[in-house]
Amino acid sequence: MKNLFLLLILILIAANTKASEAIGSYNAGKLKEADDILEQAPSVLKLLRPRNRSFATTEMAELLEQMAQEMRAEFPESEPLQVGDIAARNGGKIAGHKSHQNGLDADIVYYTKKQTTQNPNQSRWSEDFVKGGKVTDNFHVERNWHLMMKLIDTKKVTRIFVDNAIKKVYCLKRSELEKTHGKEVVTNVLRRMRPEALHSTHMHIRMNCPEKDSLCQSQPDPAKGNGCNAVFVVKKPKRPIDPFNDRRGSKR
Ligand SMILES: [Zn+2]
Repeated sequence: MKNLFLLLILILIAANTKASEAIGSYNAGKLKEADDILEQAPSVLKLLRPRNRSFATTEMAELLEQMAQEMRAEFPESEPLQVGDIAARNGGKIAGHKSHQNGLDADIVYYTKKQTTQNPNQSRWSEDFVKGGKVTDNFHVERNWHLMMKLIDTKKVTRIFVDNAIKKVYCLKRSELEKTHGKEVVTNVLRRMRPEALHSTHMHIRMNCPEKDSLCQSQPDPAKGNGCNAVFVVKKPKRPIDPFNDRRGSKR
């Protein structure tokens, strides 16, 4: 009886310490004991479900759930936090992405003025927020800034990839933002907001390695400064881009 009791205690401890592990880097990595955000992050609306990439580190699942809950509490009228691809169950290479390999990358739909909810059973994004190099009216400038500021404030998120036109909006609003949030905060968010092709339908967040994951390789921090000069240099894409389809993949 006593042994049975001890066994039960051991099983309970094991169940509680079950944790995911991110292995390797964001673009050459694996994921062990992943959380499925369809189960672990009930406040998140998981999109692109036919792609079956709802797997994440426990840290990512918790971060997404926390953000979804806090955004809902602060903006009760807004659409839920909508998440696209994270990783495959065991991580590794997935079609359409070079990264998303170790459960520390996730795609989040931009918040919208019209509180648009996308159909979770589609396998493509349904809205592009940049047309002709300009951010569309439905892109919620303040709410997306608020989410990005919150993400960076956790100190767990190292980079947020967005379309160049989107970073430009915030670079142009820089002094106004600094009046409200202070220069240090604004510079740090802009520093980590990285302009990248194929991010006009969603932002892509990347977390630092969890401390306990000794085989995980973090990417070095981005260079200091807000990086705003670079977004005003006009670059021509090397090839035509279909913003609704990630097939060709984001480099990052
Ligand atoms: Zn992504």
